[in-house]
Amino acid sequence: MVNNVSRALIYIKAFWLMVKKAKKTKTPSRSKLVKKADSVFSTFIRLRDSDKKWYVKCPLCWWKWYWKLAQNMHFITRSCWYYRYNEDNCHAGCMRCNVILNWNYIEYTRYMQNRYGISAVDEMRANSKKIFKLSTTELENIIEKYTNKIQKYVDKLT
Ligand SMILES: [Zn+2]
Repeated sequence: MVNNVSRALIYIKAFWLMVKKAKKTKTPSRSKLVKKADSVFSTFIRLRDSDKKWYVKCPLCWWKWYWKLAQNMHFITRSCWYYRYNEDNCHAGCMRCNVILNWNYIEYTRYMQNRYGISAVDEMRANSKKIFKLSTTELENIIEKYTNKIQKYVDKLT
């Protein structure tokens, strides 16, 4: 009798360990997906905006940085999911503008308006107030899309 009970408990424990393991391998947590998407998207933006020698000229202050030391700046901040992975909303720039100067907002607005037009920038600002969520599948698609895009640059880098 005691044997049967302990055997049953071992089975239950083994079953839960299997469930736990399956969860870990099959569905990575959302925060891990976001981290991965941020990383591949940032790499893409910095490579896209670099010159032939892989240097980025910050569009807000003109300082030059090797692409790995540059940062992916967001005009509409990363807290807005609608524009977090938008190619027109993101540009490679420097840490000074992005962090120390609090994303150099006045210069960044001028840059955006000159590049995309005032009405397009106004539209982005209006859209950024809408509530928007990204599904797990959409995040996975973003990761796949930008991993492929990066590959083309990486082939040239090496
Ligand atoms: Zn800068």
